[in-house]
Amino acid sequence: MDVQFLGGAGEIGRSAILIDESLLLDFGMLTDSPPQFPVRTPSPDAVVVSHGHLDHVGTIPALVSGDARPPIHWTPPTYELAMTLARDTLKLHGGTVNCPFTETNVRRVTQVSETHGYRETFEAAGYEVTFYNAGHIPGSAHVLVDDGDTRLLYTGDFHTDDQRLVSGTTARPDADTVICESTYSDVDHELRETVEGRFVESVETTLWEGGTVVVPAFAIGRTQEMLLVCEAHDIPCYVDGMGKEVTEMLAQHPEFLRDADAFRRAKSHARFVTGKDGQRKRITDQKAAIVTTSGMLSGGPAMTYIPEVRGNPMNKVTMTGYQVEGTPGRDLLETGSAEIDGRIMPVSARVEQYDFSAHADRGGLLAYLGDYRDTPVLVNHGDRCEAFATTLREDGYDATAPELGETVSLQ
Ligand SMILES: [Zn+2]
Repeated sequence: MDVQFLGGAGEIGRSAILIDESLLLDFGMLTDSPPQFPVRTPSPDAVVVSHGHLDHVGTIPALVSGDARPPIHWTPPTYELAMTLARDTLKLHGGTVNCPFTETNVRRVTQVSETHGYRETFEAAGYEVTFYNAGHIPGSAHVLVDDGDTRLLYTGDFHTDDQRLVSGTTARPDADTVICESTYSDVDHELRETVEGRFVESVETTLWEGGTVVVPAFAIGRTQEMLLVCEAHDIPCYVDGMGKEVTEMLAQHPEFLRDADAFRRAKSHARFVTGKDGQRKRITDQKAAIVTTSGMLSGGPAMTYIPEVRGNPMNKVTMTGYQVEGTPGRDLLETGSAEIDGRIMPVSARVEQYDFSAHADRGGLLAYLGDYRDTPVLVNHGDRCEAFATTLREDGYDATAPELGETVSLQ
C-alpha cells in the first residue's frame, strides 16, 4: 500500500491522503488569505472523508469536475456539513481563484454521496473501509482501510475525553499502520470540567453585574457545545451565525450525539437570532450570552456584536478556542484591540480565553497510541509533527513524520 500526503503533513489544514493513486482520504482547505488547497488534485476511484471540518472537506467538490464522478463516502452529518461549508465557500469566494469549484460541482456531490454509520464496513475502490466514532465532532470518524494484506488506520481528528456534544473515542481497531493527528502534541489541556466551571462562573458574574457576554465560537461543534453548557447551567443565551443552521441539522441526527435529550433541551433553551429589524444591536444590552461565529472574529455576526459591546467594561468577550496568529481574535487577546470590519477598535469590555478543545492533548495522544505500541505510526496534522515523532521514537515507537508530497510504502 502506497500512501501519499497531498496535504496536512507537517501542517494543519488541507488534509489529503492518497492511497495507491486510487482511494483518497479527505480533501481539505487551509483557511488563510489566500486559502490553500492540497498540492495537487488527483483523480481517485473513490473518496472517504473523516469529518466535516473545512480543513478535511473544504475542497471536496473540486473532485467531481469534468467527467470525474468518484463516489464519496462519509457519515450523514459529515455529508451535510460538507455541503454547508461548500455553499459558504461559494458565497465567500465563488468565481475567484480562491474557490476551486463551481455551484454545478457542489450539486454533483449530492449525486455521488454514499453515507455510512459507524462500524458498518463498506467497499470503496476495492478496499474494505470502516468508520469508528472519533469523539471529535458529531459524525467524526477514524477510518480503517483494509486491502486484504495491510490495515491502515487513519485517526482523523479525535478526542479521548468526553465533551457534552460527543463522547470521547473508545474504538481501537487492529491496524498494521496508524496515521495519527498531532494538533496538540505539545499541550496539556486543563480538565474540561475545570474549564467549564471557570467559564460558567465568569459569565454568571458578568450577567449578574448587568453586562452582556459575547461568546465567539466556531459554527461546527463549538457553537453546539457552548449551547449545551449554557443550558446545563441555565445561562440565558442567544445563538447566531452559521452555528444556527448546523444546530438545526445535527438535531436531525440524534444517533451521532452523546445525549440527544440534552441537545434538544439546549436547542430550545437558546434563542435563535434572525437578525431582522436591528435585533442584533437590540440584544447587546440583554443580560445574556450571545454565542456567535466567527470563532476568531474574522467575520460573521460577531462583527456586529463586538463594536456594540466593546465600550462598556461591564461586558465581556470570551473566546472559546485556539486563536490563530494574525486573526482579530488573537490580536484582541494580546493587545486589547482588534481590526473589525476594517477599523481598529480598542475594546474596554473584558476579554478572556477558554480552551474548549475538541482534540486529544499530549496525554490523550499518548494514551491512544499506547494501544498501538508495536504498530508503525505516521504523524500528521500538526505544527510540530517531527518533534512528536521524535518523542514517540524515544519511547520505542516506529514513528515518522512524512513531508508534504511524500509517498510512504507500507508493508
Ligand atoms: Zn476537525
